[in-house]
Amino acid sequence: MPSARKTPRGAKPADAPVLPPFELLRVENLHASYDGAIEVLHGVSLEVHEHEIVTILGSNGAGKTTLVASILGLVPYVRGRVRFRTEDITALPAHQIVARGIVEVPTGREVFPDQTVTENLLLGAHSYRRDRARVRRNLTDMTERFPVLGQRRDHLAGTLSGGEQQILSIARGLMGRPALMILDEPSMGLAPILITQVFELLKQIWADGTTLLLIEKLAHLAISFSHRLYVLELGSVAVAGTAAELAGDVRVEEAYLGRRAWAEELGKS
Ligand code: ATP
Repeated sequence: MPSARKTPRGAKPADAPVLPPFELLRVENLHASYDGAIEVLHGVSLEVHEHEIVTILGSNGAGKTTLVASILGLVPYVRGRVRFRTEDITALPAHQIVARGIVEVPTGREVFPDQTVTENLLLGAHSYRRDRARVRRNLTDMTERFPVLGQRRDHLAGTLSGGEQQILSIARGLMGRPALMILDEPSMGLAPILITQVFELLKQIWADGTTLLLIEKLAHLAISFSHRLYVLELGSVAVAGTAAELAGDVRVEEAYLGRRAWAEELGKS
């Protein structure tokens, strides 16, 4: 049997193959419109690798929510391509996209206020609702993992505090055991102390193996939390890079405040 070639002590394994990061989501040249006439996204491309935290930053109206809705099959007029684990999911209906392992936690901690905590969580298990053992297992897991939800399982969701509702919204998303969790402004409407708690929670979820794609407006928070970021400006990617590359980059601040885009728009008129 041939003996394995040994790397001399102290030498770097220069010939060792470097495996490319596994690509989970790829958005290619995406154009989107709600009415078929006015385009909101103008050829957006981005990718998310497995076990990454990627954030989309942008000012009001930049197209962040539209981008997520387009990925999830919720925008009627879309051109371009969305791939998930190499499969083209562009034309799939939303429920089939969810079934493949992409879950969205919508903005504004949307819970169903007139339903109990348990009922809200069960909605997250819709795609496998017939597998009762699995539903029960995941429900128990969530109430153990988030004791505040366990203690309040029979309370109406509308009676929870803002921070608790955000936790419920995230836990409902986790009920779907997603490979990719997309969170639309998890910081929105929360006091700073709660924002810190929610982001700690997200870090745990990521450490447990869920890849995260975030939408955020809080640039500094996003840069400190993410591996890579994309800045959307008027429906296009204006800036992209790693957190280290974008920390202190004045273009992020400008795009985030919408200054550059508006200045250019004004310059044209
Ligand atoms: P915000 O942070 O304020 O939510 P955003 O970056 O998420 O902003 P979008 O909500 O995607 O931006 O909006 C981008 C553009 O698309 C805006 O001009 C908005 O008016 C338009 N738009 C958003 N939703 C719809 C809709 N359902 N129908 C028609 N136009 C829409």
